[in-house]
Formats: sequence, C-alpha cells, structure tokens
Amino acid sequence: MPRWGMVIDLLKCIGCYGCQVSCKAEHATPPGVTLARVEVSETGTYPNVTRVNLPLLCMQCNNPPCESVCPTKATQQRADGIVYVDEEKCIGCKYCMIACPYGARYFVEDTNAYFGDQGLTPYEKAGYAHQRTGVVQKCDYCRHRLDAGLANGLVPGVDREATPACVINCMAKARFFGDLDDPNSEVSQLVARAQAFQLNPEFGTDPNTHYLPAGRSIVPTEPKDVSDAKR
Ligand code: SF4
Ligand code: SF4
Repeated sequence: MPRWGMVIDLLKCIGCYGCQVSCKAEHATPPGVTLARVEVSETGTYPNVTRVNLPLLCMQCNNPPCESVCPTKATQQRADGIVYVDEEKCIGCKYCMIACPYGARYFVEDTNAYFGDQGLTPYEKAGYAHQRTGVVQKCDYCRHRLDAGLANGLVPGVDREATPACVINCMAKARFFGDLDDPNSEVSQLVARAQAFQLNPEFGTDPNTHYLPAGRSIVPTEPKDVSDAKR
C-alpha cells in the first residue's frame, strides 16, 4: 500500500499562483474556498529584503486531529494516508475546522459568482452543478485523479493524468508527488535530504506534505532517474 506525499521546494517556487488557480479550476471552488493557496511574505530591511512564497494545502497528516473530532465520520483517512471528507455525511458543524491547526479546511457557504452582477459564467454553472453547500471541503491530493489513474495502470507523481492538478500545473516544477513508502520514489529521495522539513512539526500531526527551504545553498532537487519529460 502506498503512502502518498508531496514535497514543495520553496527555492523553486516563484509565487505565480498557478497551483492556486489550477486547484480552483480542477474543483470549481466558489469564492472564499481556496483548497491550495500561496502566502507571500517579505523579510529583512531595505535594500536587503527577501520575498518568501509559501504554498499551502492540507498537510495530509498521519495523525489528523480533524478526523477524530468529526461526529459523523464524514472525515476519514484512507489506508494510503489521504484524509478526505465524505460530503454525503458532513453536517457542516465545523468541528474539523477548529481542530485543524493548519487552517486547511473551508466551509462552503454558497456558490456565488466570481463576477457579481454578471451572474454565473458557463464554467461556474458547469462546475457548481457538482458542488454541495453547507459542507466543509479540503484538499484531498486530487484523489479522483489518483484513483482514476491507478485504475488505468498509471503512476501518481509520474503520469500527469494520475497526479494532483497543482503539481502538474506548477510551471517552476517546485511541486513533487509520489509514494513516501517507496524509498526509490522521487518524493522519498527529496524527503531524505537533511534540509527537508514538515511545517510546524510541533503540532504533532506528522504531515505527509513536506517542504524544502528557500534559504539554502543551491542543490539539485531533481533525482537522477526521473524523466523530466513526463512532468
Ligand atoms: Fe486534517 Fe488539517 Fe491535517 Fe489536513 S492539515 S489532515 S485538514 S488536520
Ligand atoms: Fe465532520 Fe463535516 Fe462536522 Fe467537519 S463539518 S466535523 S467533516 S461533520
């Protein structure tokens, strides 16, 4: 059984918001619901200023506090590590939003138009037809793409069709996806580096989403045996 994980290289991230936009396109999320987002901050004093781009999403915790507080078992963790919400069971109580220390969950209040008085665009009409309101949503590593790809013999993290939308749409190739239980996978090799880190490990949730720091000397982040042509 694989354990899916993601690595985000903060040195490569250029803060283009491609992940954020591609996630919205993939899931047709309404205004206010941003399952993948980028936080931008500046540190230092002029002229020695550094800009840091921090892409955020559900950390897919191995010990997810959002799961244990859910009174209806709508939030569950699969054997492959993915934490998801069964929207048929979700009653919108928001307990999970309080329990998640990463702020990775969103309550879908309404499916409003992005362009106000102009009404819904054709894209919004099509996408919102599948949206439920009154429920909580979160990133689930695009499990629909993974599951469909696996059913067709594809490899998540290698084949585009089986890989999360934010990963395949990252123009800087700052995002990596794959099986953390396979020591030879691209993500396992990246996580094995001394500089790899989990966000706020003090929360004790043991995320499957990992980062490589922006403030480091340039080291190659491409493993030797992975074809770039497939990404
Ligand atoms: Fe749950 Fe939050 Fe961890 Fe995601 S980041 S698994 S929503 S606790
Ligand atoms: Fe569970 Fe939904 Fe309540 Fe979250 S809002 S705890 S997923 S029932």
